[in-house]
Parts: sequence; C-alpha cells; structure tokens
Amino acid sequence: MSTRTEAQPPHGPARTGVVLRTAAATWYQDGPDAPLLRIPTGSTLTAAAPAEAAATLAADAPSEADALVHGAPGAVLFDRDGTLIEDVPHNTDPARVRARPHAAEAMRLLEAAGTRAAVVTNQPDVGRGLLTLAQLEALHARMAQLLGPIEVTAVCPHVPGAGCGCRKPAPGLVHAVCRVLGLPPARTVVVGDVGTDLLAAHNAGAPSLLVPNEATRPEETDAAPRAAGHLASAVRTLLGPAPGRPYGPAADAPGRRPEGRPERGVGAGPGGARAHARSRPGGRG
Ligand SMILES: [Zn+2]
Repeated sequence: MSTRTEAQPPHGPARTGVVLRTAAATWYQDGPDAPLLRIPTGSTLTAAAPAEAAATLAADAPSEADALVHGAPGAVLFDRDGTLIEDVPHNTDPARVRARPHAAEAMRLLEAAGTRAAVVTNQPDVGRGLLTLAQLEALHARMAQLLGPIEVTAVCPHVPGAGCGCRKPAPGLVHAVCRVLGLPPARTVVVGDVGTDLLAAHNAGAPSLLVPNEATRPEETDAAPRAAGHLASAVRTLLGPAPGRPYGPAADAPGRRPEGRPERGVGAGPGGARAHARSRPGGRG
C-alpha cells in the first residue's frame, strides 16, 4: 500500500537522498516516484526542509487571496524549455542550450530585487532512458552559465502516464521548490509558455504568468490569467504590480478571465502577434 499522495503539501516531510554530485551542483531524489532536485554547490539551501521551519511556514502562510497583493513574490518559478531556454527536443548537448530572449535580463532583475529564481521542468527523456542524470546536469550547468544562478531546480523525470505527482500539470514540482525555499506556493509565481505550466501553478495554489512563444497555442494565451511579451517584461510586472491589479489563485483559474487582466501580449513586440499566427509544431512531451 502506497502512502504517497498525488498532491503532497509543500511543507510535508522531506527525506531526500543524493543521486548525483558534481563540482557545480548536487541532485537529490526522495525515491523513484519523486522529482529530482538540483541545488548549486555553495547554496545554503537543503533539499530536506527542517520540520520546525515547515511548521512555521504552515502557520504563517498567507491566505491565497492575499497572494502578491502586498508585495513582490518571494520566488519566481520558471518553466525551462520554451521559457528560459529555447526548446530543443531531446537535446543532450550543452552546446545547443540557448537562452530565450530577455531571459538573462530577467534573471538579473530578480537578483537585484532579492527575489529567488527557480526552475520547474518536465524531462520525460530521463524516464525513457534517453537522457542520463549526468547529461541533465550538464544542460543545467550550461543554463546557469548563460543565465546566472538558479537557486533550486525541480525536474519531473517520469514518462507521461506514469501516474507521478510531479509531472506538470500536477503540482509536485511547484510544491518541491516551495519546500526547499521555505515559501508557501501563494508567495511564488510560475512563469511558463504553455497551459500545463499555468495549470500546475493553479493546482499548487500559486499564481502564474504566461510568456507566449511561437509554440504557444492561441487558446492557451486566451486562457492565461496574465501574460507578458517576454521574460524581462514578465519579471518587471511581478516585481512591481500595478496598484489595483491583485494577484492570486482566485483570479488565476485557467479558463477564467478576471477583470483587469492584462491584455494578452502586454509589453510584447512582434512576438506577441507571432504567437497567434503560427501553429504549434508538435505537442511538448
Ligand atoms: Zn514526475
């Protein structure tokens, strides 16, 4: 009988083993059904959150309706492929990692504001045996070279249909990052390029923001509670929300369009229009 739940709370117990350690980072995983967690070498974070801190967190967690109304988020959780870096299907080569437009600028803005950056990404090629953990680390180490430090990275290594609790749109990756950072989901924001990213945020109790690209379906853009034309625009929006534009899951349910929702493609250049003109080349796995 399994005791694992589909939506483990962010302050749940953590008992996490090291699965890979390099000069750049350590990877943790709490059993084969759990997400992989990458923490850079030298970080003060730990993959296993102390129980006392977790209890404090639970007590201090703001209600979801308060999310981001009273200030910038404690962390921004980025999707990887198609959001922070270009989507290169089945890539195993660090030399082919390319930053998305304004990604490095977005990371600098976050660092200057003292807001933490994290990554939440589905990488089913790990589960398929097409991407080794060492190769995965090489890709993420390259990404850190291009974009700057990412405090914690959570990867779902499972194949679709495996029934794990971490493959987006399940909330497990968001919860795993929140547990490491010691933040309730409502104090974070998920930024991604497709509907599954936003749905994962919603399922975890976190606000979200869409940055469409040429692969984003028009209906995904239409359903997004808020959107930005590029990553730096997204981060500026999150760090300094306009008065009277509350954030929070209540206004964040996919498919809903709350009043005051930013125009789609807000802050966009031609990229916003392009996102609508092109069809998606293929579903992302
Ligand atoms: Zn998973």
